[in-house]
Amino acid sequence: MKEGVECLTGQWMSPDQLQGAFQERFPGCMKGRTMYVIPFSMGPVGSPLSKIGIQLTDSPYVVVSMRIMTRMGAHVLERLGDDTFVKCLHSVGQPLPMKTDLVNNWPCNPEKTIITHIPDKREICSFGSGYGGNSLLGKKCFALRIASRIAKDEGWLAEHMLILGLTNPQGEKKYVAAAFPSACGKTNLAMINPTIPGWKAECIGDDIAWMKFDSAGRLRAINPEYGFFGVAPGTSTKTNPNAMATIQKNTVFTNVAETSDGSFYWEGLEDELPEGVNIRSYQGIENWNKSSEFNGKKALSAHANSRFCTPAGQCPTMDPAWEDPEGVPIDAIIFGGRRPEGVPLVYEAFDWQHGVFVGASMKSEATAAAEHTKKVVMNDPFAMRPFFGYNIGRYLQHWLNFQQNKDYVLPKIFHVNWFRKSSEGKFLWPGFGENTRVLEWIFRRCNNEDIAQKSPVGLIPKDNSINLDGLNEKIDMEALFQLPKEFWEKEVSEVEAYFEEQINDDLPAGIRKELGDLKNRISEL
Ligand code: GDP
Ligand code: MN
Repeated sequence: MKEGVECLTGQWMSPDQLQGAFQERFPGCMKGRTMYVIPFSMGPVGSPLSKIGIQLTDSPYVVVSMRIMTRMGAHVLERLGDDTFVKCLHSVGQPLPMKTDLVNNWPCNPEKTIITHIPDKREICSFGSGYGGNSLLGKKCFALRIASRIAKDEGWLAEHMLILGLTNPQGEKKYVAAAFPSACGKTNLAMINPTIPGWKAECIGDDIAWMKFDSAGRLRAINPEYGFFGVAPGTSTKTNPNAMATIQKNTVFTNVAETSDGSFYWEGLEDELPEGVNIRSYQGIENWNKSSEFNGKKALSAHANSRFCTPAGQCPTMDPAWEDPEGVPIDAIIFGGRRPEGVPLVYEAFDWQHGVFVGASMKSEATAAAEHTKKVVMNDPFAMRPFFGYNIGRYLQHWLNFQQNKDYVLPKIFHVNWFRKSSEGKFLWPGFGENTRVLEWIFRRCNNEDIAQKSPVGLIPKDNSINLDGLNEKIDMEALFQLPKEFWEKEVSEVEAYFEEQINDDLPAGIRKELGDLKNRISEL
């Protein structure tokens, strides 16, 4: 970190400060409520790749959600023995009787909300929020922030990645892991229905991957989770039929709208609403419609970040090996983000070190939180920006170190962009199921087929090597792979500035070298 700049990859406080913040909040915070004790396993119970946590919480919402998202119960405690476990403490921060009004049945304490992690002690303390990411502590807090630190100490990887199995028409199978920032299509890709005849896709996980090289040098991945905690709006039979099939039972919905026939509703389900059925919005508007208002503003039926929490085992495309304690062998790692400009549909890293650089320089378009309208392209290294459990410079070095071990079969690394737009602002690539066409190219590259050519940013597909058979619309492949010089010059200098500010002296030499090499290649564009 450069002195005086705001750290964008985590916020540090001293143990004394934390002690003060803790004492100010936790004593007496559960008064009048029931305290639940949740033993849970991240990963299949008993897998050498799994870890155990115990969460205390005063929220029954958290208990039922954790029951779906993790393997929970007494059988986990029996497995624990003398092992260590991650200590997870959560309170909504509203002792009873409440002094303020209860809004929408959500006890919480937004003024005092704090989510803290003590990586050295493998502890998480979360106060004041019932929001999934803040309260279901097995997910982002444990499986990414604490686990990334454990992984560094133990020589493995805890990553914000989906895991997907792909089988080609000849019956050959490979697994890929893909890191996209939030809202960039992980759940969609994890449940993809291939559009190329003969191809099969199967899901291992949609959000988090724990990966470790086995004794044969293969990188093995497990999904530490047991369910999906997915964004509801936009999910429909058209966009993600497998998610729709998954959520038909045993599912907890948060902040969605309710229909008069006892079902759920959100933006994107317009075509699936039966005749004569009314909608009650998540804010309680009866007979909601598109022109309904709340406090003088246009009201959505469901919150934009409303969720389904559903058992993974109910997904029709779950891979038979999804609970294999050994994990599945990973052949390719894919990075990606929302890049409306300049970044090609797909490219392959020249080697592992270049691939780690590609992950480190990831960016994605996000909606600026403050006003909910303006879109900005933000750095999100490895899609881990909010989830690093330790110094990002050391994290990058940890990734680089794997190339020192000659016994390891390093997966190939790719970058994809489903979101490039034309000058008229339309997506250039149809996306969703058609992404199989890019996955097919990646699959063939893993077999070292001669279908790639050098470009300044990486290896890109040779002409006509992406299968477009059967696509109805005309695809402008030239526009999808164009590399505008000014764009890339700006990109390189922005990445350089980001590394300088956020990583500074901790930037590994290998990453600095890759940046310099890219700069040189761009100058030849
Ligand atoms: P996650 O948060 O990374 O799991 O992302 P989701 O899978 O929930 O998708 C986030 C948003 O991206 C949804 O609105 C999807 O409809 C959209 N999306 C997903 N895949 C594609 C794609 O291939 N092309 C386009 N244009 N949009 C996509
Ligand atoms: Mn998701």
